[in-house]
Amino acid sequence: MSTEKQKLCVVGAGFVGLVTASGLAKFGHSVVCVDSDKNKIASLEKSIIPFFEPDLSELVKENLDNGRLSFSDNLKESISDRKAIFIAVGTPSGEDGRANTKFIDAVVEELVETITSDQIIVLKSTVPIGTSKKVNEILKIKFDDSQLPAVVNCPEFLREASAVKDFFYPSRIVIGGNNQDANETIAEIFRLGVDKSVPIAITNNETAELIKYAANAFLATKIGFVNELAGLCDILNINILDVTKYIGMDPRIGKDFLEPGPGWGGSCFKKDLSEFEGLAKSIGYSLLITKSTLEANEKQFDIVFSKVKELVGDLPDKQIAVLGLAFKANTSDIRYSPAIPIIGKLIGAGAMVIGYDPKASENAKMEIPKLQVASSPEEAIQNSDCILILTEWDEFGSLDYELLGKSMKQMNLVDARNLLDPETIKSLGFKYLSMGRK
Ligand code: NAD
Repeated sequence: MSTEKQKLCVVGAGFVGLVTASGLAKFGHSVVCVDSDKNKIASLEKSIIPFFEPDLSELVKENLDNGRLSFSDNLKESISDRKAIFIAVGTPSGEDGRANTKFIDAVVEELVETITSDQIIVLKSTVPIGTSKKVNEILKIKFDDSQLPAVVNCPEFLREASAVKDFFYPSRIVIGGNNQDANETIAEIFRLGVDKSVPIAITNNETAELIKYAANAFLATKIGFVNELAGLCDILNINILDVTKYIGMDPRIGKDFLEPGPGWGGSCFKKDLSEFEGLAKSIGYSLLITKSTLEANEKQFDIVFSKVKELVGDLPDKQIAVLGLAFKANTSDIRYSPAIPIIGKLIGAGAMVIGYDPKASENAKMEIPKLQVASSPEEAIQNSDCILILTEWDEFGSLDYELLGKSMKQMNLVDARNLLDPETIKSLGFKYLSMGRK
């Protein structure tokens, strides 16, 4: 195992940048994390993380305290002497659905003024195929071909809500670039901290770029498939859990990602699948499965909405208590959360929606101004006509539903995460619908 500690820079202090910077510091490297948002940097310098991610706050504090991690809002001043500059800024969807690389371009245009030939640019962001070439074009403004700093793709596979764990115990690390010395330097940076059993794949830039899109498209498709299967099970009166349990035993299928729900969300799947499909279209190829996965996910929001209507009837003047606003449990992130379109449909149909989430209420309120937020599940549920569980927070599985039912106008419950036991909840007097469970 290598013991060489490097001086590194991470640009972007979002979910990926902050985990990468503090994780690399924990490996022993000296890391400066740069963000153009001065307020964010001021908070981070005081160990205040602007979002909730388990264990991240402790990791940042530990490495700030031991001096291996620092923050800055000045990119030019931060990169001198840094062996590698990891770029982890956003790559949001543009109006046409294709990924917009304007934040990457802006960083590279700033870097080009001071970067030297022996420094390495690492693209951690999820970037469209061909981005590394585009970065090289920007670098050519200043450098001859023979002097170009190396550009390496190192896509990130962490999952929000377990991002810190995923950083330290990754399933694999993918490194793509055409300069083998630079590839090896980046591999060594990770070897310093990860277990030697972690596969480190060295490939070229375009392959690394494609691996990330292919991974996300496949995962979203797997969830989309199981969501459709749940709809079929509902009609056929077959319990989906029996089906998924036994198909999941086949190692070619695998048991993970086989839980039906209200549709996938999060910052990545929709934007990455849109880019993936858009890329294919632009070169005259069609990714029919990816296109259907995107469409099926929109349909899933309608299915959840219909389940509420099935129990409650007409929605005007009805009060719906939504438990869970984040796109998944253990995060405050509401980007593309299914709660946003589903609550939009409920409000659009005349319902009053009172939401509760342990960590994401504030973010959801900003996104959906007509949503009322409660400070506890009990407050959200009081006087409601239906409970709708949208996020699989543990605490929603262990509420006192018997007591809560007594505070409701009507005892209806739609469990879009299959968190509760149908027989128990029905025995309390609830009318109950879940996803694909008879
Ligand atoms: P984010 O929006 O949380 O963070 C991006 C940060 O970059 C922001 O803090 C922003 O202020 C900063 N930034 C933008 N322009 C800048 C500039 N010119 N200089 C310095 N800082 C700048 O984004 P994220 O969720 O961390 O995602 C980053 C990238 O990683 C995206 O490409 C995303 O697709 C990819 N990714 C995200 C996840 C995830 O779960 N969030 C997982 C894997 C990959």
